[in-house]
Amino acid sequence: MGKTRIFLDYNATAPLRPEARAALIAACDTGGNASSVHEQGRAARALIDHARRDVARFAGAAGATVVFTSGGTEANNLALTPELHRSGEARRPTRLLVSAVEHPSVLHGHRFPADRVTPIPVLATGVVDLAALAAMLDGLGEGEVPLVALMLANNETGVIQPVAEAARLVRAFGGFVQCDAVQAAGKLALDFHGLDVDLMTLSAHKIGGPQGVGALIAAADIQLGTPLIRGGGQEGGRRAGTENLPGIAGFAAAARAAGDGLEDMTRIRRLRDRLEAGIEAAVPGAAIIGREAERLANTVCFGAPGMEVETLVIAFDLAGIAVSSGSACSSGKVGPSHVLQAMGRGGEGVRGAVRVSLGRDSDEEDVVRFLEVWSEVSSRARASAA
Ligand code: PLP
Repeated sequence: MGKTRIFLDYNATAPLRPEARAALIAACDTGGNASSVHEQGRAARALIDHARRDVARFAGAAGATVVFTSGGTEANNLALTPELHRSGEARRPTRLLVSAVEHPSVLHGHRFPADRVTPIPVLATGVVDLAALAAMLDGLGEGEVPLVALMLANNETGVIQPVAEAARLVRAFGGFVQCDAVQAAGKLALDFHGLDVDLMTLSAHKIGGPQGVGALIAAADIQLGTPLIRGGGQEGGRRAGTENLPGIAGFAAAARAAGDGLEDMTRIRRLRDRLEAGIEAAVPGAAIIGREAERLANTVCFGAPGMEVETLVIAFDLAGIAVSSGSACSSGKVGPSHVLQAMGRGGEGVRGAVRVSLGRDSDEEDVVRFLEVWSEVSSRARASAA
């Protein structure tokens, strides 16, 4: 029997993996608080310790510090502080440089004064302009220390950023690097040490874990400064409050199940390519955004001239297909996408784009049905515009 609804919005959230559900439910029955010394407390502590190791392994970050948070948003907020430093060193970041296509929790979620924050432009492809970054680093005043925030893959377009190259530039200036890997996780092999970043952000629900849990990974010598949430010594004093044990257990189980995601991505890339070819065949003016760049294999972001994006998303929904317009990360937000604007896409492009993101349960049947609906809604839209 076919699916009753087709879910093509994995970049917004991935359906819970059965392994994550099982681990989450089992953790609910642990019955202890990880701060308690008795047996149940020790069992809860052991679960968290294991989860920390599994999440570090998932990120290629063995030996690094994993701080569990309430999600990617909190982890980004925790990361971007002028108090950041290496153990035993006085240097602190004096300037925050953020790529113009970052998630809002990076663009707005930091603890730097506004006049200390500078956007790094991206090229028309959506890839960060490394030459502009180099020039910005060169132009820093005497004694200035940069903290650069660059995501590994963009949530709207799937465009992959040259994080290792950017980190090399930043290192030459004695700076710090933060990498939001929320969307790349489970779709690309993560390599915290290979990328040579100081901080990396993850979110469980993008890899089939539960919503409301994530992690900030920090290199072993990084000190985060004043915690955002105070009032307890949990997470090594970095984040107060009784740990979200079921969430953390579900997160770790999802990370183990997701692995590097590469096997799934080979299959998904084929589906994505068929989808893109079909989108363009039905509407020749349709533009696949970010196509010139290296992209996540699961993401299609496209604009169609003369078509209202919100109308398209609703038409797909009525036909039983979940897709989104640009980013669905901030609930119900409708407006120009800062990502498309940063890529210099004027007119229709800036008004929006439809984002289709595939995942582990996506199949041929989904692609065929999507293209049928696309053909219907696009010819209807063109007929009413004529
Ligand atoms: N960073 C990126 C790139 C995202 O796509 C999202 C999506 O929501 C977040 C951060 C925020 O993560 P969370 O939903 O766990 O707060």
